[in-house]
Amino acid sequence: DRAGRAASLIAAAIDHHQRAARPAGRLASQGAHLRSDLAAILSHEMRTPLASIKGYASALLLEDAYWDEETRREFLLAIDAETDHLTQLIEDVLDASIIEAGALRIEPEPILLPHMVRRAIDKLALRTDRHRFVLSFPPDFPAVMADALRIDQVLSNLLDNAVKYSPQGGLIVVSGRVAGDEVVVSVADQGIGIAPEHLNKLFERYFRASTNGRRVAGTGLGLPISDAIIRAHGGRIWAESTVGQGTVFSFTLPLAPRDTETDAEGS
Ligand code: ADP
Repeated sequence: DRAGRAASLIAAAIDHHQRAARPAGRLASQGAHLRSDLAAILSHEMRTPLASIKGYASALLLEDAYWDEETRREFLLAIDAETDHLTQLIEDVLDASIIEAGALRIEPEPILLPHMVRRAIDKLALRTDRHRFVLSFPPDFPAVMADALRIDQVLSNLLDNAVKYSPQGGLIVVSGRVAGDEVVVSVADQGIGIAPEHLNKLFERYFRASTNGRRVAGTGLGLPISDAIIRAHGGRIWAESTVGQGTVFSFTLPLAPRDTETDAEGS
């Protein structure tokens, strides 16, 4: 019957999901590793979301199956989230090739970071109810010279990671301070942390530290891309961490010249 078929479709999607997850577990058990084969990453990282989308969509399309409102919504939310995930994956791969070709261009303008951080947090907060977010910028935080879209991308990457690598939840604090002629922005989490021997590898392409066999989606491209973006602004990005306690990522950006007009839209 239809309902039985739906159930077996979902079971098949989950089975796919688990098979796709297995290689990650095996690699993760070897500890940190460098994955240099882009095709392998793409096929591995794409198979899981595609299998889920296919499974949920097929289940929803079954003619006689009855799904209550809540289940339908759950399936649609999963399709929505997996589609975002695939889009992000493709954008990361494109950005990595732009950076590799030395073709990353930025268009700096004066921007107000606290606004931008608030927006990034609001967007992310919709996707998690385990984490609490705190924004800590002094009043009258000065404008920085930065490419709004690219810095938004860096913030989203750091915030996404803070959520992904704090499976138990906890506080995520984004703070900013002025230091000389630049600002320092930090994203602090209370997550799994990073081993000292991995700290200097984080910004290498495809590097992913082990997550104790837990499957965490990702490509190891987010931080190298963020690094390239921050460097293009003349800034630096780095991490400090204690395993089991949490991680702080910080980056610097140049101050905008005083008396510049800030573009409220872009900031
Ligand atoms: P991805 O998250 O796709 O693997 P990134 O380049 O963003 O790629 O991060 C590289 C690796 O750095 C991650 O796989 C993870 O091991 C580690 N990492 C990044 N952010 C954090 C964090 N906030 N806490 C612990 N580990 C992190």
